[in-house]
Amino acid sequence: MSDYNWCHGPECHQQQTQSRIRGSGNNKVLRTIKIKHNSNYRSHERYQMFNYFCGQNCLFDFIRTHLASMIAIAPRREALETPIKVEKEKDTDWRGDPYTRTRITSKNSS
Ligand SMILES: [Zn+2]
Repeated sequence: MSDYNWCHGPECHQQQTQSRIRGSGNNKVLRTIKIKHNSNYRSHERYQMFNYFCGQNCLFDFIRTHLASMIAIAPRREALETPIKVEKEKDTDWRGDPYTRTRITSKNSS
């Protein structure tokens, strides 16, 4: 497996930054950013996307371009629900005035 990915941002190669300039003389180009696979990202699932995108702009460009396909992969046809317990507690604020606090706890977590 390659240690590098090309950024998947559809317009990555059009961003005018020094880091994207390749070539010499009259044959210069702006090139897609090459991303080194970061093994830390592998263990932190919420940041894995940055093994494939050089930044949030490229990530959101990709989402904008491929939104219909992404929704088609996992369409949501009905609302999801999380069972909860709602408790009302009487308390006093910093002035000593009474108020009711609403505490929401998930029934799935103990
Ligand atoms: Zn990019």
